[in-house]
Amino acid sequence: MIRLAAPDITEAEVDAVAKVLRSGFLVQGENVARFEQALIRATETPEAVAVNSGTSALLLALMALEIGPGDQVAVTAYSWPATANVIELVGARPIFVDIDPLTYNIDPEKLRATLVQNAAIKAVLLVHAFGGMSNLDELARLCDQFKIPLIEDAACALGAKYDGRPAGQWGTLACFSFHPRKAITTGEGGAVVGQSPQIMRKLRQLRNHGIDPIAARPDFVVPGHNFRLTEMQAALGLVQLGRMPEILKIRQIQAARYNALLAGTMVHPPKVDPRAQHVFQSYVVSVPARRDEIIATLKDRGIETTIGTQHIPLTTYYRRKYDFRLGDFPGCDHAAAHALTLPLHSSLTPDQQKMVVHTLIGAVNG
Ligand SMILES: *Cc1c(COP(=O)(O)O)cnc(C)c1O
Repeated sequence: MIRLAAPDITEAEVDAVAKVLRSGFLVQGENVARFEQALIRATETPEAVAVNSGTSALLLALMALEIGPGDQVAVTAYSWPATANVIELVGARPIFVDIDPLTYNIDPEKLRATLVQNAAIKAVLLVHAFGGMSNLDELARLCDQFKIPLIEDAACALGAKYDGRPAGQWGTLACFSFHPRKAITTGEGGAVVGQSPQIMRKLRQLRNHGIDPIAARPDFVVPGHNFRLTEMQAALGLVQLGRMPEILKIRQIQAARYNALLAGTMVHPPKVDPRAQHVFQSYVVSVPARRDEIIATLKDRGIETTIGTQHIPLTTYYRRKYDFRLGDFPGCDHAAAHALTLPLHSSLTPDQQKMVVHTLIGAVNG
């Protein structure tokens, strides 16, 4: 079976985790602090707060910005549902914004129209789809113009850049995930990076039972969660971050190889914004038709593929609650019908990539 994804774990990661287990200090130790420092360097931001998942990172970001009942948040409609779920979970209302079906990223013109129509929108939560950034200058300018914070769902985008500026630096806050489907993993894990010391202090309180990180004695100042990362996870993440240039390089080489193999076929490679450095958390192509049949055919031939991501407004919860229909988000409708994720991971060989493309083209024509 050619797997869709596989974490890139070496003996160095295994040793690092074993060392923590032998140390007897499993939480709240030096590995988490060092992991946060490494994230600060990787994203070139002043502060990072590690948490136990990307979803926790998003939830805490909204809470730290005091987004709650009655508020509206503009959000990318084509993403993993967590992106919108956190808005519902704080009692706010997601205002979905359609994507450009070629880059799978939020369409700036549609965001502008949404912000013009909804004066009540309190923040913009946008996704760097599959590790690719697009139109960030324009999107950031829009948020400035409307005087609302930008939150980056950079779950897939650690190491990505736009105009040379890393993912994580564009928003008031930015959230990362270290789930095994992402290029850099801690098993489960996440982080928030940001510029404002006050907001980061609030994030630390919310992460750890409401304890103020600066107070001399434990002082519980808000009803917080326990969203802490473990020392084992942080030790794993530290090795992964150290290997990030190598891991991302492999993904970029594999993406370029797929691009070359797909040239001139009916299958379109992902469109990359020329000003972006894409990290290819997923390599998502567009097939002309019968996408689900193609997934089944490839599976029969031993190749694991999947859809792009979720058309959130058409998932049962959102469709029922807000009465969305096909046609409300044409960009998402297109991606939901045509997007196909191909295998991409460090152990994939050039011959396997050739086989994937050969079998895919056969399935498209078949
Ligand atoms: C993976 C992902 C999340 C959720 O991250 P977890 O660590 O799995 O909670 C959120 N948003 C996007 C865009 C993702 O890809």
